[in-house]
Amino acid sequence: MPGTKKKLIVLSSPSGGGKSTVARFLLRTFPQLQFSISATTRPKRPRETHGREYYFMDIPEFFRKLQNNEMIESEEIFGQYYGTLKSEIDKALNQGKTLVFDVDVKGALSLKEAYPRESVLIFLKPANMEALEQRLRKRHTESEEQIQVRLKRVEMEIGKSNEFDHVIVNDVLADTFEQVKEIVEKYIK
Ligand code: ADP
Ligand code: 5GP
Repeated sequence: MPGTKKKLIVLSSPSGGGKSTVARFLLRTFPQLQFSISATTRPKRPRETHGREYYFMDIPEFFRKLQNNEMIESEEIFGQYYGTLKSEIDKALNQGKTLVFDVDVKGALSLKEAYPRESVLIFLKPANMEALEQRLRKRHTESEEQIQVRLKRVEMEIGKSNEFDHVIVNDVLADTFEQVKEIVEKYIK
């Protein structure tokens, strides 16, 4: 409920829906926020740094952490593994920090289940499929085949949006920023 302090701000959307853009906006708008760095087996993209966007690791290391119960949630997405490290959340909560997550919809719902009182879930909904497809292409980070795989998941993802605390249609970016700022302000005050 707005007005209740939340320590875990979880952003989710279909791929290309605007999570990283909105996460970056929140991090530069509210200095008290910190990005939750996930573990992944996906190869690093050119401008990414280990320990900044992700903790990049190979499959054996990822599964070792999973089996040691070091992850709160994990998903296989587009043939790669992603997971939230318990240590990342524990550290932030112990230091009184507020975390911003960029995770898929299933991961978001798992976080809500694990931390029902601390988390708030925000879903960024594409205005329409054409816009989403265009944005995925514009990003130039996926091949055409990967773009098609990502688009196939969209229906399932939008279907779960009613389980989120807030849904924002990410059409005009300035409006999205304004709406998300208003929501987050209420939770971190
Ligand atoms: P995600 O992290 O959810 O995969 P991104 O934040 O990388 O999505 O956004 C995908 C692309 O769409 C990026 O190039 C981003 O700059 C662009 N984008 C995001 N939101 C908007 C918007 N409202 N209007 C126009 N372009 C946008
Ligand atoms: P990308 O490879 O484009 O960085 O991310 C692909 C998808 O994985 C995105 O939907 C992103 O939000 C999601 N993701 C990133 N980290 C995690 C995580 O720790 N857990 C889950 N469930 N999804 C994640």
